[in-house]
Amino acid sequence: DSSLKQTLVNSIRNIPDYPKQGVMFRDITTLLGNARAFRRAVDELVHPYAGGKVDKIAGIEARGFIIGGAMAHQLSAGFVPIRKKGKLPHDTVRIAYSLEYGLDEMEMHRDAIIPGEKVLLVDDLIATGGTAEAAVKLLQQLGADIVAACFVIDLPELGGRKKLEALGVNVRTLID
Ligand code: IMP
Repeated sequence: DSSLKQTLVNSIRNIPDYPKQGVMFRDITTLLGNARAFRRAVDELVHPYAGGKVDKIAGIEARGFIIGGAMAHQLSAGFVPIRKKGKLPHDTVRIAYSLEYGLDEMEMHRDAIIPGEKVLLVDDLIATGGTAEAAVKLLQQLGADIVAACFVIDLPELGGRKKLEALGVNVRTLID
């Protein structure tokens, strides 16, 4: 509803020219630090999935860990991290993906998902969708049944939602 959206929009800080000239960075640390906004965001994200519809939350490093951890607790689901390369100690699966400049790689533990488990993917924000698309591919490689990909913020002009939907993934976002 519009009061929820207003609460969330008002709790997000906009930083012009960060990390470079011409970019408006959406800083959600202020949302996380606002008790009411944080709870309302998490409640709204998990709402459709109450009652055992999800086995695990997969959170993208790093802000996806914070929101995803809260969602996992609320849903009594497990949490699994999707990390930048080189951080996970056990046997991993890895995928390369392109950023604005160059390539990066992300990893998951190979045994993080049991094939067929129902998984929600989560991050704070979707822009071009390149990060989330790579995460979807890792989850699919592990045999996850991806129930939806959830984000607090969508930047719709950058096309990320469409990119995920073209892969057949349900996308849930709270504000544009
Ligand atoms: P994408 O791969 O272009 O969709 O970019 C999304 C990734 O970059 C996510 O992991 C976001 O956390 C991060 N990101 C991009 N822009 C912003 C922003 O304005 N605020 C916070 N995170 C951002």
